[in-house]
Amino acid sequence: MTMGMRLVLLGPPGAGKGTQAARLCRALGLVHLSTGDLLRHAVAAGTPLGAQAKGYMDRGALVPDDLVLALVRERLGEAPPGQGFLLDGFPRNAAQARALDRELGPDAVELVIHLSADPEELVRRLLARGRQDDREAVIRDRLRVYAEETRPLVEWYRARGILRTVDGIGSVDEVHGRIHAVLEAHRAEAGA
Ligand code: AMP
Repeated sequence: MTMGMRLVLLGPPGAGKGTQAARLCRALGLVHLSTGDLLRHAVAAGTPLGAQAKGYMDRGALVPDDLVLALVRERLGEAPPGQGFLLDGFPRNAAQARALDRELGPDAVELVIHLSADPEELVRRLLARGRQDDREAVIRDRLRVYAEETRPLVEWYRARGILRTVDGIGSVDEVHGRIHAVLEAHRAEAGA
């Protein structure tokens, strides 16, 4: 019934995007496109793109748009036509959002789920996770990059009427339940 939804999951590092995205994609049969995962795979596989991306990732900066867009194009190109998708960690700035509109058309994104969380809670969660780029100084940089470059997209999508904010604090089940309720309400509104 929800097949074919076209979603973006937006939110600061540590808000639980990856976990929630994987779960939603399983539940709804969507293609999960995480630019962070694709980039980490490219780094681990030692591809030329991975070699170029690594330094940016290690210091918590955004990887240049052309590299990220190449990955997104490739992955969306492989998705079966008509199958819905969930973009996780993309778009991350205004240029990427405009590129997405250009590639897929401005109506391509149906709903943007904005996971919100208190910054101190985010730092606490990220320190507990202990990934390569989860050292405190890098965490602070990633939160700053989010505030400066990504957060403006919240207003941009809100102005289009497709933004839904969901409280990201709580158990995985609780947050999943909130997102699910938002999607149900959207489908009811859309008469889908
Ligand atoms: P994430 O797993 O989404 O937290 O991403 C981890 C890192 O990958 C980020 O700190 C960036 O260095 C890079 N990255 C992921 N997605 C993007 C994107 N859309 N644009 C630029 N850099 C990205």
